[in-house]
Amino acid sequence: MNIPFNKPYMTGKELWYISQAHASGHLAGDGQFTKKCNAWLEQRIGCQKALLTHSCTAALEMAAILADIQPGDEVIMPSYTFVSTANAFVLRGGVPVFVDIRPDTLNIDETKIEAAITPRTKAIAVVHYAGVGCEMDTIMDIARRHNLLVIEDAAQGIMSSYKGRPLGSIGHLAALSFHETKNIISGEGGALLVNDARLVARAEMVREKGTNRSQFFRGQVDKYTWVDVGSSYLPGEVIAAFLWAQMEEADAITKRRLDIWGTYHQWFASLEQAGKLRRPVLPRECTHNAHMYYILLPTLQRRTQFIEALKAKNILSVFHYIPLHSSPRGQQVGRAAGDMTHTNQTSDRLVRLPLWLGLEEHLTDVITQVMAAV
Ligand SMILES: *Cc1c(COP(=O)(O)O)cnc(C)c1O
Repeated sequence: MNIPFNKPYMTGKELWYISQAHASGHLAGDGQFTKKCNAWLEQRIGCQKALLTHSCTAALEMAAILADIQPGDEVIMPSYTFVSTANAFVLRGGVPVFVDIRPDTLNIDETKIEAAITPRTKAIAVVHYAGVGCEMDTIMDIARRHNLLVIEDAAQGIMSSYKGRPLGSIGHLAALSFHETKNIISGEGGALLVNDARLVARAEMVREKGTNRSQFFRGQVDKYTWVDVGSSYLPGEVIAAFLWAQMEEADAITKRRLDIWGTYHQWFASLEQAGKLRRPVLPRECTHNAHMYYILLPTLQRRTQFIEALKAKNILSVFHYIPLHSSPRGQQVGRAAGDMTHTNQTSDRLVRLPLWLGLEEHLTDVITQVMAAV
């Protein structure tokens, strides 16, 4: 038995849709499959505009352009996140200002945001860690009072909700990922979601090399020309065709992930009671998508032993993130606002267990080995 940490799930329809894209002769972006995917996102998430991109990283870079980040502008964000959350703003000369996470959800601690605001603050970038929503009402209220944009890094958050609202529909802008390690995949892939009507037209232009191509094709302008800064952020139709097969199955995929997640969670309750580990915490106002099952072990040493013990049984578990505020680049370009205790502790103690469709038949073995290893 060899249990990888992740195994991309295919619905079986991907090649069929790719063959349709191939037969249609339209291989560049914004063909019929991209339109289907955008419409699905707009309907399911309820955003004003969804635009497929070639990654979540690309969508975050677009968000930084749309937020008009200028050199020296500050963006408040967690340090416990993937590098793209920060890099997107740093590429525009922005300064990441890192705030600690909450010890329960491991999301940005909304009670520490206001103390990090300065006259240079332009935006707040929140990350819905493990697909569990941040405390968005509080965050949106802070943003309103200080006239800041909120960008949701919802890379892990598709099909989750906060107070009944889908993640990705709450901030001014949001970014999704369809990387093969996420729930709904296209290999590499992502989307920018726009919830602020003032940013829709510009988002289309930034995505298409700074041109008004979309308006031109809709007959809204009579010339197709260069009107803004931008780049090429759209995926080709082959990727969109693959993604469409996944979107059609999004409910079934989420349900199966939730079953695996729930099985882990139930079995580990006794270990939590015995003080051997801490399980994920789900706030009452959130529904989640089972993007990740993690456990927190008491110390770094115990975690290292745990990962080794599972590896000896051919089960791969992984840890992440090295906090951005203490990373080599993060120290040069950003700064920590306040104490980073929970970020540092989580980075030492968290371990992610395998969670992929097909794991069901090995799940009892994995759980048995986890119980022996903690
Ligand atoms: C996966 C991930 C990203 C990057 O997604 P890509 O599609 O690979 O660019 C960004 N932020 C978070 C929180 C992620 O988990």
